[in-house]
Amino acid sequence: MTTPADCVELLRAMVRFDTVTPSASGRPEAEGELGAWLADFARRWGFHTRALPVAGAAPNILITCECGHDAPWLLLDSHLDTVGVEGMTIDPFGAELRDGRVWGRGAADTKGTGAAMLWALHESAAAGALAWNTALLLTVGEEHLQPGAQSFAARDLPTLGLRPWGVVVGEPTGMRVVAAANGYVRARVVTHGVAAHSSTPERGRNAIVDMARVISRLQSEHVGRRPAPHPLTGAGSCSINLITGGTQINVVPEQCEVRLDQRITPDQTPEQALAEMDQVLQRLREEDPTLRVSVAAAETAAPLPHDQNTAVAEWASATLRGAGQDGSIVGAPYTTNANRFAQFGLRCVVIGPGDIAQAHTAEESIGVEELHAGVRGYRALLETRDRS
Ligand SMILES: [Zn+2]
Repeated sequence: MTTPADCVELLRAMVRFDTVTPSASGRPEAEGELGAWLADFARRWGFHTRALPVAGAAPNILITCECGHDAPWLLLDSHLDTVGVEGMTIDPFGAELRDGRVWGRGAADTKGTGAAMLWALHESAAAGALAWNTALLLTVGEEHLQPGAQSFAARDLPTLGLRPWGVVVGEPTGMRVVAAANGYVRARVVTHGVAAHSSTPERGRNAIVDMARVISRLQSEHVGRRPAPHPLTGAGSCSINLITGGTQINVVPEQCEVRLDQRITPDQTPEQALAEMDQVLQRLREEDPTLRVSVAAAETAAPLPHDQNTAVAEWASATLRGAGQDGSIVGAPYTTNANRFAQFGLRCVVIGPGDIAQAHTAEESIGVEELHAGVRGYRALLETRDRS
């Protein structure tokens, strides 16, 4: 293995690894090879590395560099997995360098940020310029339920003996500082009927017919009702996106299920959103006490709340601006590992080179200049301690 000559070559090498996230690729250890490869040359650069096990998945990789006993810790995070490659019109793993850009799955989301973070750490450490004890976490499974971030925050952080002053999560933000982000609730609403032969439907209760009423009420009384927009992340959203019900053409259906995807702002919690859905259902139950309908969360992600992250956001913004980067403080409608870390009380911002509009696209790419700007921005963060 030769060590890449620069950050662009590092990114191209990373893109050549197929790390399509386990839930989409069916490979539980999809990120394992890339993680081991990055750990290997992080050690050659003199960093300490650990493979931190994640249940049923490849390990997270933690790379650390201590600059002094009493220095606070700064944690950087970047995920190793990518979304799937269906429908891509370029070679997903070709890592072609053309027109001043690196092309391939993950080039923007988010191997570009991982390469820039690792390169910045290498340069800052080599220059003896680190202002923080620095940890770089390379996480698995971010594209589906974030088990890597969850496992690190819940299991590893309490025992590692490092409590970060702040966390910088790498996603393509154009080097703006995302300090607040929406979360989501994916809710499962089920109507329960009674199966019967379709020649005698009166002996059953049709769960699909019940669901038609439920959908109509959810649509008019919940889906369309949005709370006030959040100043950074905008309004939430909600839609009914999946439906299943019935087993055979000649059987009155016993069960019908719909799934709603509700994006919630930092002013809301997943629990509140679920309770509001249940209030709509409760009114229906009161109108028809024989109706059996339930709602439960299938998946949730808490929002990234702005007030928790203010100090880190202001430090990052001032530091990036001082280094000639954008640095404006903004919100994001999408969720990242930061949402998970924030649930454990960590103060997080999301910062990285590249454009989120490139993420998950058929021709994903990142500009070489953007990547270099990312290295400069991350270096500034690694070399500038908070003054407050
Ligand atoms: Zn990402």
